[in-house]
Amino acid sequence: MANGFIGTPRKVTAHLTQNEALSFEKSSPGKKAYRLPPLDVPEVDPASLLGEAAREDTGVLPELSEIEIIRHFTRLSTWNYAIDLGMYPLGSCTMKYNPRVNEFVSRLEGIAEAHPYQPESLSQGSLAIIRQLQDCLLEITGMDAITLQPAAGAHGEFTGILLARAYHQSKGNPRKHVLIPDSAHGTNPATAAVCGYEVINIKSNAQGGVDVAALEQLVTEETAVLMLTNPSTIGVFEHQIHKIADILHAKGALLYMDGANMNALCGKTRPGDFGVDVMHLNLHKTFSTPHGGGGPGSGPVACKKILEPFLPVPVVEQDGDGVLHFNYDRPDSVGRVRMFYGNFGMFVRALAYILANGPDGLRQTTEDAVLNANYIRKKLEDLYELPYPTPSMHEVVFSDKRQTKNGIKTGDIAKRLIDYGFHPYTTSFPLIVPGALMIEPTESESREELDLFIDAMRQIAREADENPQLILDAPHSTRVSRLDETTAARKPVLRWKAPAASTPLAPDNSPAKEW
Ligand SMILES: *Cc1c(COP(=O)(O)O)cnc(C)c1O
Repeated sequence: MANGFIGTPRKVTAHLTQNEALSFEKSSPGKKAYRLPPLDVPEVDPASLLGEAAREDTGVLPELSEIEIIRHFTRLSTWNYAIDLGMYPLGSCTMKYNPRVNEFVSRLEGIAEAHPYQPESLSQGSLAIIRQLQDCLLEITGMDAITLQPAAGAHGEFTGILLARAYHQSKGNPRKHVLIPDSAHGTNPATAAVCGYEVINIKSNAQGGVDVAALEQLVTEETAVLMLTNPSTIGVFEHQIHKIADILHAKGALLYMDGANMNALCGKTRPGDFGVDVMHLNLHKTFSTPHGGGGPGSGPVACKKILEPFLPVPVVEQDGDGVLHFNYDRPDSVGRVRMFYGNFGMFVRALAYILANGPDGLRQTTEDAVLNANYIRKKLEDLYELPYPTPSMHEVVFSDKRQTKNGIKTGDIAKRLIDYGFHPYTTSFPLIVPGALMIEPTESESREELDLFIDAMRQIAREADENPQLILDAPHSTRVSRLDETTAARKPVLRWKAPAASTPLAPDNSPAKEW
């Protein structure tokens, strides 16, 4: 076969993509994608309404017919891989299916059209959604209080560490450093540094957990927080979490849990019950709201009572007569971290997901996610190196150790996986596993889809032995093959530039800037 497959890939044979120019290149003057009835009111000069702010020059915009626009974006969409096309095993990202019921509910008129400036008396339904989601998340995490404001996981970390900092300041000792295991997500040390703390690294032990003896040495009266990703980025549950919490609390330090991996714990165990003081959740991971491509996320922060006074304003409260309102009068609050109340549409989707599943459904989801990761682990462990013997939770991390003898690295295997019709797994992360292949199938995948993935991975392992060049040159079936990723990252060209001979981009003929 043209793409050199050793067996026949069962999922795809070729990627169907149509060539598509930029909308600017397809534009022709005068085309419109709409038809309006003749104007039946007097025409108004924009300058009479807007004065000097009225813009006469609107630049050059593409002019296309309706069907041209529809085809343009539909064709572009076929260049993408999506969870709606197949398994998306990008480890640490929990790329689960976004159930359509979430979308249905979030588009109900009263919800979708609600305005953040609407009076509270007319927003009781929206406030009740916020309140009910908060209650559900508190039940799931076992914590005491929560804010839904942060717009992403990293933003949640930032908010959580601000709470811890305010708490230590209120005790008269702001403290100096934050401890972070080497298996943490990269956002953890970044967050601690942005909040003004010195970061101290803790080495993992041979099981991939925190080295408790080392921790005991490192915790002092200057330790503000330990930030622990649990399960960690190698998909391992921290079994000594109770002990770790006790060590910290004995010195007045707090335990922060990065809860982005709650898909492995939801309905099974609660951070609030194992000593965590403050944590964030990723609604766009565990609770199935769409993510990727920089879209809206949501990273609620839940905490214990001792941190509640510092939560961002406003907080939702209920009067004696059952009316909900926002309370802004909280003198110890760290302030706002986000305009309005956070990404409300994400709250609606997450609540729909939680209610549609119910407690048993959420527990089943967790069990299926862990089962799927372990199924892949068992079916691939004879061909790919497992750096840690500890059982996997929601994701399994292999290394490329056995493939490097043929000059093949994790990134090459990931590129070849594209030829088999899958989105790549996460490559080269976590950093404590050199040449990591981080695979998170989530509960969304059926056994059939998992088997297709396993098949592809097994065939790639054979190709690595029999025809390594095939992998090194992959992908073969896509629109473009290997990209120069370094140049793309360091010198991205983000604006279209009119070719010299065609219609000028702007009336003054100024060329577009390159970035
Ligand atoms: C995804 C992730 C984050 C960051 O979340 P964002 O929403 O991308 O900011 C933090 N920690 C862990 C463990 C994660 O998996």
